[in-house]
Amino acid sequence: MNKYWENLVQAIRKFPGVGPKMAERIALFLLKSDETTGILKAVEEAKKNLQRCVHCGVFAETETCRRCGDNGREKKSLCVVEEMGDLEALERSGAFKGHYHLLGGALSPLDGVGPRELRIEPLIKRLAKESGIEEVILATNPTVEGEATALYLSQIIQPLGKKITRLAYGLPSGLAIEYADELTISRAIEGRTEV
Ligand SMILES: [Zn+2]
Repeated sequence: MNKYWENLVQAIRKFPGVGPKMAERIALFLLKSDETTGILKAVEEAKKNLQRCVHCGVFAETETCRRCGDNGREKKSLCVVEEMGDLEALERSGAFKGHYHLLGGALSPLDGVGPRELRIEPLIKRLAKESGIEEVILATNPTVEGEATALYLSQIIQPLGKKITRLAYGLPSGLAIEYADELTISRAIEGRTEV
């Protein structure tokens, strides 16, 4: 194999969850497809025009995202989620009307993800600054990593004197919030318990 092919496969292997076989399949697709230029342009434009919202951490075109700028949303509760997909699933359920904070993942020491790799510091700063927030809902996933993250967060948020709750599960253990249906999510939010 030549160096161009090797470079391409190695670059694609950096994608989360992509192993060697999948990397080769994607490389082959990109080489054969007529869409490749369009895909690269979309990536380039998104990288250039999107930035993390200074409040919640979601990628947005503006410094403050649409949701954080919406005065109609309830300000008393802040829902902490791992990834964008979890946030969208919670939104779809319609059961939560407050604000969000995106961590960008869950603690996973074996994969090199420690507290510094997540948006934990911005969360603590935000809680210290926004005195209107009374409740922090830890909506990390019911996985080993998600539970460890919730435990870690509850310990460092506790001294700030906020009410801390965890989603009721309801949600099958190991299932990402992202893939749960709306009713299950609604019940998990309504039945949340204090930690
Ligand atoms: Zn935002």
